[in-house]
Amino acid sequence: MKRILITRRLLKSCEEKASKIFEANFNDNDELYSQSKVIEMSQGCDGILTSLTDKMDAETINKLPDSVKILSNFAVGFGNIDLEAAKKRGIIVTNTPDVLTDATAEIGILLILGACRRASEGIESARESNWKWSADYLIGKQLTGTRLGILGMGRIGQRIAKIAKSLGMIIHYHNRSKLSDEKEQGATYHDNLKDLLSVSDVLSICCPASKETVDMINKETIEYLPKGAVVTNVARGDIVEDEALIDALNRRKVYAVGLDVYKNEPNLNSGYLKHKSAFILPHLGSATKETRTAMANLAIDNIDEFFKTGSCKNKVN
Ligand code: NAP
Repeated sequence: MKRILITRRLLKSCEEKASKIFEANFNDNDELYSQSKVIEMSQGCDGILTSLTDKMDAETINKLPDSVKILSNFAVGFGNIDLEAAKKRGIIVTNTPDVLTDATAEIGILLILGACRRASEGIESARESNWKWSADYLIGKQLTGTRLGILGMGRIGQRIAKIAKSLGMIIHYHNRSKLSDEKEQGATYHDNLKDLLSVSDVLSICCPASKETVDMINKETIEYLPKGAVVTNVARGDIVEDEALIDALNRRKVYAVGLDVYKNEPNLNSGYLKHKSAFILPHLGSATKETRTAMANLAIDNIDEFFKTGSCKNKVN
């Protein structure tokens, strides 16, 4: 039986599955392991089931024992792992695509609705029971007829586009490559970020965090947005330069933001906390029972497939 380290606690049924296939080392207290603890705990292991809270940078990967052959990430994103460093050491990295698309797209839509319809302010007033209805009370932005710019029209972006279209939004997108007509579903393609931003009444960030996309939404690019645009991010905090976005909110260049992900999670920039136009969630994208179960099972299956066949269809490096 192969021996694996699972760095974070999984749902019970998934841990039971893992223990049937592997000699699994669980994290019963769901402690956040430091990089040195991961290295220490992985001694004698053949693989590690990592989570997005594990920073598997080159230094950490280089110190892993030679026995480790796979890092199976419990996420579709893999910005927490240095893919090249893993490749150099002959370690494959896998992710969990598809199974979390619907749940994450739901949160993507919630961010758009929450930011446009002033949900943070509304929730606060309702809880304090101190509001007075009037014709102009908490007037927000209606989605019908509004242009939605999707930065990263992949699995999650396409799902958000489909739901947003049914809400009457007009879809624009930017990827490095244009999609087929079937995947585009009538959306308008922009081959550069500037053109996408200039038509985005609402922006939905859905691309992965990578060397190319870090701080892509910054002081300069924010200026391409129409005045009073709404910015939402369901992908990764690294894509946004927080100070620039908070400054744009303060001067009303940006009307509202809807965020699920942040740089340095969970210590998000305090500028968002203070802002009434910030609709913020604690990285809930894939947080449903069905999805978290499917993700963990897939992360386990990826390790199993690799040890049985020498490769894995969800290999990303
Ligand atoms: P995906 O299917 O790979 O889609 C990513 C899209 O981004 C692709 O269309 C890709 O198109 C585009 N893209 C990549 N690099 C780009 C660049 N430099 N400039 C412009 N577009 C770029 O991935 P997915 O499954 O939709 O997931 C997307 C991301 O969502 C993940 O990487 C993850 O970080 C995040 N996520 C967050 C949560 C959450 O809990 N909030 C949950 C799941 C996923 P091209 O290759 O043609 O450029």
